Amino acid sequence: MASVFTHAFVASVAGKAWSGKKMTARFWLLSVFCSALPDGDAIFHYFRVEYGSFLGHRGITHSLPFALFVSLTVVLSAFREIPRGSKQWWSMVLYFFVVTASHPVLDAMTNGGLGIPFFLPFDDTRMFFPWRPIRSSPIGIRSFFTMRGVEVMSTEIIYVWIPVALVAFMVLWFRKITSSRS
Ligand SMILES: [Zn+2]
Repeated sequence: MASVFTHAFVASVAGKAWSGKKMTARFWLLSVFCSALPDGDAIFHYFRVEYGSFLGHRGITHSLPFALFVSLTVVLSAFREIPRGSKQWWSMVLYFFVVTASHPVLDAMTNGGLGIPFFLPFDDTRMFFPWRPIRSSPIGIRSFFTMRGVEVMSTEIIYVWIPVALVAFMVLWFRKITSSRS
């Protein structure tokens, strides 16, 4: 995995760029939650699920169908006030899908572990992107505060935080010009 900090960072920047306005704490908490959720599969490890199986780490929770399932569940249960099927509703579904899917996408750019089964349960091929600059992050917070953690963090800052922040900055800036024109 990329580190939980990076998943959360990407989620919050995506939220800012997507909404462009003040959003509720619930929106932010759910954004961060969705971005980290796929690594919840680590709990199956305690039940001795084999690494590399359907429920193992980087299994079903790292697939795109799972991301869609999560986004629909979140919007249907936490944003009931938005009329179902409206433009705003669909845009929320899309947003939470993107935030959840940002997790396996980042994982597919790490240099270690198993590939990402983007299309489970339909196809169990495990994939990586051809460009994998992010160092695989240790699981668990404790092992994170070591030299290896520092190394991991620095690759994530260079290859993820800075580009993501730049794109978000451009989106917000573009919004500002277009809205000041109208
Ligand atoms: Zn992961």
